[in-house]
Amino acid sequence: MAVGGLQGALALRALLDGARRVVVFTGAGISTESGIPDFRSPGGIWTRMAPIDFRDFVGSAEMRREAWRRRFAMEEQLALARPNAGHEAVAALVAQGRASHVITQNIDNLHQDSGVPEDKVIEIHGNTRYAKCLECGARMELAPIRAHFEAHGDPPDCEVCSGIVKTATISFGQAMPELEMARAEAATLACDLFLVLGSSLVVYPAAGFPLLAKRNGAKLAIVNREPTEQDGHADLVIHDSIGKVMREAVEF
Ligand code: NAD
Ligand code: ZN
Repeated sequence: MAVGGLQGALALRALLDGARRVVVFTGAGISTESGIPDFRSPGGIWTRMAPIDFRDFVGSAEMRREAWRRRFAMEEQLALARPNAGHEAVAALVAQGRASHVITQNIDNLHQDSGVPEDKVIEIHGNTRYAKCLECGARMELAPIRAHFEAHGDPPDCEVCSGIVKTATISFGQAMPELEMARAEAATLACDLFLVLGSSLVVYPAAGFPLLAKRNGAKLAIVNREPTEQDGHADLVIHDSIGKVMREAVEF
């Protein structure tokens, strides 16, 4: 049964206090309070734009131009976004040694910006604050890509191997990053409390981690404004705003 408000936050505090090793799993919902829209809330990105899948990106120069146009259109919003109370509470759980890792589906870098050490953030869908060559993996910064795009109407090719350059994110249809998936699985299997913050839990394989934790004997808590696919498996479900709940549940 889902609870809300203070009652939910106090129940979450008790679960956190009883845990030896927490894994926090975040989705787009933790960043809406920083001004970055999610996909599946009413009015979310998908109600306006279908995502470009990987095969289309690789197969079509026009799709690549469209993907980069969308990315640059988001730049201002992303550059201005700062971590909110939800990110800060998560950073506190890590700093206090209570959470071993943050597994995130987000690509906005806000967990790192909130002070979670790089090696504790597992980005299973990559990061949109920089780009990578799809052939050789070389990293590229976005500012020179944007300058080239604005000058020529096309993104540049990789300077090293002339491969296609893409934001360092995982699109639909693109292979998941093996190392991050393995790290996320190991962290999940080592926790005794798995805390989901702001994910509709419909995107797989990411959404498989809460159930993996649960099957392995961990407790599962979900904080999400709307019902999720996995509410029925959770020990605690809180349908409320992450910032509000986490302010009450964690000292930071
Ligand atoms: P989603 O959009 O499917 O679900 C987000 C959920 O968060 C919704 O169910 C919504 O009710 C809830 N929510 C929104 N704001 C909330 C708040 N303040 N408090 C509590 N709940 C709130 O997101 P998802 O499950 O992460 O899957 C979408 C995919 O899109 C992910 O793979 C992610 O990589 C990507 N994405 C990332 C960002 C980002 O990096 N910030 C933004 C949009 C999409
Ligand atoms: Zn290359």
